[in-house]
Amino acid sequence: MKNCSLVAVLAGFLAISISLQPSQKLNAETKSAPTWAIAIHGGAGGNPAKWDNDKRAAREAGLKTALEAGKSILKGGGTALDAVEKVIRTLEDNASFNAGRGAVVTSEGKAELDASIMDGQTRQCGAIAGVTIVKNPISLARKVMTNTKHVLLAGKGADEFAAQQQVPLVQPDYFLSFKKAMSTQSNGPPNRPLDYDPDWHYGTVGCVALDTAGHLAAGTSTGGTAKKLPGRVGDSPIIGAGTFADDKTCAVSGTGIGEQYIRNAVAYDVAAQMQYAGDSLSSAVTEIINERLNVGDGGIISLSKDGEVSLQHNTPGMSCGLADSTGRFETHLQLKNGQLNTDPLDQSASSSDAQTIRKLIKQQSADWNAGDLDAFMSVYWNSEQLTFSSGGQTTRGWDATIARYRTRYPDKKTMGKTEFSELELIRLDQNAFQVLGRWELTRETDPIGGRFTLVFKKINGDWKIIHDHTSARTK
Ligand code: ASP
Repeated sequence: MKNCSLVAVLAGFLAISISLQPSQKLNAETKSAPTWAIAIHGGAGGNPAKWDNDKRAAREAGLKTALEAGKSILKGGGTALDAVEKVIRTLEDNASFNAGRGAVVTSEGKAELDASIMDGQTRQCGAIAGVTIVKNPISLARKVMTNTKHVLLAGKGADEFAAQQQVPLVQPDYFLSFKKAMSTQSNGPPNRPLDYDPDWHYGTVGCVALDTAGHLAAGTSTGGTAKKLPGRVGDSPIIGAGTFADDKTCAVSGTGIGEQYIRNAVAYDVAAQMQYAGDSLSSAVTEIINERLNVGDGGIISLSKDGEVSLQHNTPGMSCGLADSTGRFETHLQLKNGQLNTDPLDQSASSSDAQTIRKLIKQQSADWNAGDLDAFMSVYWNSEQLTFSSGGQTTRGWDATIARYRTRYPDKKTMGKTEFSELELIRLDQNAFQVLGRWELTRETDPIGGRFTLVFKKINGDWKIIHDHTSARTK
């Protein structure tokens, strides 16, 4: 019981409430979202600072040409799907990228290509894996989507399907000729292996687009990872891992260590965070890049239904770019701090509701650890109706709750250090969230921990805890 009542006191949370200033509100209301938008990538990883000028210039030029192609389709009222296919075909035909012509080779020296495409309007999708004779894998993926009842065709069957569909076929050597030419250039040893450039394999391509009809699409195409085992399939052709699009939320294309993207269902997770946790696009991506993936795993490009673009990577570089109807047009080989976010309705992407609540909780633990109970309590609803329940005891009202804390925690030593983790935010409606999580209290005597459930409600523009239920771990 002693521990339980101790827990009771700890139960609460938060401190400083962050609210939207009136000027920001005005800004948000008056700013109009772009009518179309597009973002592209040409692979994460590698360190562009170490590339020579030719390689940098080739990459930049390739990104610009592809972005122009997508832009002209969307500007002319074309569909997001057409823009995605066209952009990716353009990049597949450019040997500076690891897709189509420039695809890397397996440990046996052959190119095996993967690609996928998804239509956000219908959630129709198509993918191909391990094709060896297809010039533009993305177009074959689209044909799987439109001309079959399947989603993914692999290997021999996919190559045969390509022949039936009369898409341009090439000799397997088509994928090797460029690398052979590179390997005999005068500035290096004549017999360099085909993948002599350690950065060579970072160049998967992807595209996400929003068209003027409000539909989203996403696509990804790659040669995979260099020296992969024959038959290895990465995330690029796996819907939900490397590619995802749904008009309800966003379009996503990933690039990086495919196995990590598959394990973490990365592309779908961005959409799920938005749909179920109410996250903004950029905060969903930030969480995945920082918390689910490891440093060096890769990057994500994404576009929300409202035209917000998020480009993020946790690798030294990511070739990428974006354009939209407001006149933006830019390409990059790496992003400052690994990210670039544009939210047309709210430039401060971190002020999304879920992000605000996470910040409040983080701040609350900092206030607790600084021994500042008043700051800690400031996020609780200052009302007689506040319900605080812990250790089987229920306290009603703000005054009674802070009084209970003060009795239980008279000084910094008794307060110890707390940590709130495993936060799960569940949106209840426009103005309410439930937050589940774990708490730990470390101190010299009686360290303790357990779980909590909070209900947050937006009151006069500020998020406040209106109900707090905490329980201790049974020993
Ligand atoms: N994700 C790709 C794969 O694992 C490779 C990459 O994006 O660089 O096949």
